[in-house]
Amino acid sequence: MNLQGKTAIVTGGGRGIGRAVCLELARGGADIVLCYAGGETTARQTAGACEALGVRAAAVRCDVSEPGQVARLAETALHEFGRIDILVNNAGITRDGLLMSMKEEDFDQVLATNLKGTFLCMKAVSRQMVKQRYGRIVNLSSVVGLRGNGGQVNYAASKAGVVGMTKSAAKELAGRNITVNAIAPGFIDTDMTAAMPEKARDAMLTAIPMGKLGAAEDVAKAAAFLASDDAAYITGQVLCVDGGMAM
Ligand code: NAP
Repeated sequence: MNLQGKTAIVTGGGRGIGRAVCLELARGGADIVLCYAGGETTARQTAGACEALGVRAAAVRCDVSEPGQVARLAETALHEFGRIDILVNNAGITRDGLLMSMKEEDFDQVLATNLKGTFLCMKAVSRQMVKQRYGRIVNLSSVVGLRGNGGQVNYAASKAGVVGMTKSAAKELAGRNITVNAIAPGFIDTDMTAAMPEKARDAMLTAIPMGKLGAAEDVAKAAAFLASDDAAYITGQVLCVDGGMAM
């Protein structure tokens, strides 16, 4: 995968899937600007691991639900590296609970981070990408956004929204050589799934035809492909990386 000379922004790039995406893009030669919400130490470690692969990297504190912070993230990438070629909207949270008892603030917070955050980041980079007549945007959706999941009406709504937003942005930006695609991971081994109760994890495993969890690297390789020139004629698509779960 040749990403030499490209600059990538990866939101929530300090750990989990985001960290694996940063490393995969860096292996291809892209300079990396990753953002974190609270995890400064892991974010700096990931930036260091990218630099060890021979690229430039910066870790920036940015809550993706805050428009001012997102604007500064895009400005930093442009100021430091002069271009924004790739955006991977990876930052995401869960605040699970049953519909009848879900707190409004848990609904709002998940939508603000997963859906509005993705919107704000796409908006912040799109002008520069249009100017460059080049861009690759990859948004992290989820199998839950396609199929739903009990206890996750907030998360499912946010991830289904990401799919609709991805297709709409793809239509708007296609004529400017900017592709916008989504990845819908299934059940991936990260902090997010480690926090699930064991019973729920076991139930989830039985729903995976391949019978095992995915690794963050499985998602990262798909993201790097969609971010590369090998995927130049693919836009508005949702790529499931889920061991067959969404079939
Ligand atoms: P994770 O291990 O919980 O990591 C979440 C990342 O998002 C962290 O880097 C965190 O930064 C960042 N983040 C959270 N809120 C943020 C905010 N407001 N602003 C900026 N960054 C923020 O999650 P993951 O499993 O790697 O998931 C990554 C993405 O894939 C998410 O969008 C998730 O919904 C999606 N996904 C995951 C799975 C799965 O099975 N793991 C399945 C489907 C979809 P800090 O370190 O600073 O907290």
